[in-house]
Amino acid sequence: MPIKVDIVTPEKMLYSGEVEMVTLPGANGQMGILRGHAPLLSTLDIGEIVLHRRDGNDYIAVSGGVVEVRPDKVTILADVAEPGEEIDEDRARAALERAEQILADNPPPQQVPEIMASLRRSSLRLKVARRHAGRRSASGLNYESGQ
Ligand code: ATP
Repeated sequence: MPIKVDIVTPEKMLYSGEVEMVTLPGANGQMGILRGHAPLLSTLDIGEIVLHRRDGNDYIAVSGGVVEVRPDKVTILADVAEPGEEIDEDRARAALERAEQILADNPPPQQVPEIMASLRRSSLRLKVARRHAGRRSASGLNYESGQ
């Protein structure tokens, strides 16, 4: 039995649909949610949301927010979120290099947490973009071989 998932950002409704399972970066680590899950409310870390659908997975980079789980529905209010296909890899790579450079230049200690968060966001974006691209080429291969 599928579970309903809504993903909302301050700008838009990013996703609304039914999935077999959703995994997301909860306060206590990556968690998998199936229909019938016990109700809970959690903050979201910087990490990956995976929508497991019958015909494939969708990957979304999320940077903070909250999630409400009910047995038949998951509502994600994301501070910032990008689906794999909307991620600009060059921008993420530039942000990663910028953060690495600032860290290498001995920043004031009070700046380090924000620089680390920037590093995590940009490396997450690169990972999610690659996972999305991998999925695309995999289905392309199946198509080519007639399967
Ligand atoms: P940058 O240093 O490249 O601006 P950032 O981590 O500071 O990255 P955020 O403050 O997390 O950026 O996000 C600002 C807005 O830009 C959000 O709407 C976010 O979805 C979008 N965004 C950030 N990086 C990317 C990216 N690489 N591809 C697509 N959208 C992005």
